[in-house]
Amino acid sequence: MKSFVYQGNPSRVVFGSGALEQLAEEIRHLGAERALILTTPEQRTMGEEIAKSLGDRCAGVYPEAVMHVPLEVAQAAREHAQRLGADCCVVVGGGSTIGLGKAIALTSGLPILAVPTTYAGSEMTPIWGVTENRLKKTGRDMRVLPRTVIYDPRLTHTLPADISACSGMNAMAHAVEALYAQDANPVISLMAEESIRALAEALPAVVANPHDEAARETALYGAWLAGICLGSVGMAIHHKLCHTLGGTFNLPHAQAHAIMLPHSAHYNREAAAGPLKRAARALGGTQAADVGPLLYALNRKLGIALDLASLGFPPEGPAETARIACDSPYYNPRPFERDAIQALLERARDGLAPA
Ligand code: NAD
Repeated sequence: MKSFVYQGNPSRVVFGSGALEQLAEEIRHLGAERALILTTPEQRTMGEEIAKSLGDRCAGVYPEAVMHVPLEVAQAAREHAQRLGADCCVVVGGGSTIGLGKAIALTSGLPILAVPTTYAGSEMTPIWGVTENRLKKTGRDMRVLPRTVIYDPRLTHTLPADISACSGMNAMAHAVEALYAQDANPVISLMAEESIRALAEALPAVVANPHDEAARETALYGAWLAGICLGSVGMAIHHKLCHTLGGTFNLPHAQAHAIMLPHSAHYNREAAAGPLKRAARALGGTQAADVGPLLYALNRKLGIALDLASLGFPPEGPAETARIACDSPYYNPRPFERDAIQALLERARDGLAPA
């Protein structure tokens, strides 16, 4: 067996349908008394209902979270938390809302209690990101890792089927890349394989019926495991390409991940044959080369757009993305080869199966 280092991130997880009822107790467990609730404007009503249930343990609701955590939004939220004398942030929502809580924690140290309502996985990572002058700065800091995470699958029923599908494939990408990470280790690989299995099983049922309680539970369980993968080991070519697609071409985060994943996995099928065999097994295949086609078929089954062009990726996008990625590559089991990467991006742009 290869030598490895494993370090678990310290967080408390409360999982189950109806788990949100334990929120007040969990705030007490953190030693906090005045929770500021953060949401997006769209999830404000959910935040206000939660505030009502907390009574005077709630300092207020701040429904101003937006995509990519603009610095001005982060600063206004930090001032608001301080003005209200909040002693913890309860973040209810997806990666954007959790990102705002992290921006507050980064400068104030306020503990975060996260209640995720998508599958993006930010709640399990010490990674923060703030956007200034259209440039997203990211970093790792243990102060931003949520201390407690309440996973209540009932809160995901309102996530529309199409967003659930892409968000679930975004989670799948964390698990697939964890298998061939530079610092992969046996514990995280177990979680990654189980995450892929759970997501592949649950997502078609979620898309068929967004109120399928058992499928929502399994999908959120898979997303939790994928979040642990993302927070524990380094990501590779797939994340490099998706960061470029988001940063340079402003493509939507979860959709870009979903479309790119079959192509990225296929690119690594020989260099990471052993690790990808585990992904194949979890997807119902047998060998590494099955993973790309199986993920592509899963996207199709989930009704996800298969082409980056429909997200606004321009004809010259593949060449530019390949150039940017090769200028500052991440670790990847197969070296970054500019022509091969441009070719896979052309296939992804046009919605073709990985080849
Ligand atoms: P999001 O948080 O932007 O949410 C998308 C939309 O869905 C929002 O309008 C939100 O209000 C709505 N929504 C969320 N849950 C809902 C529900 N249950 N019902 C109805 N509507 C709901 O999207 P996301 O994909 O979760 O997060 C993407 C962002 O998170 C990106 O900026 C990404 O960079 C970041 N991210 C960060 C990390 C990290 O570790 N720091 C990890 C993953 C993602």
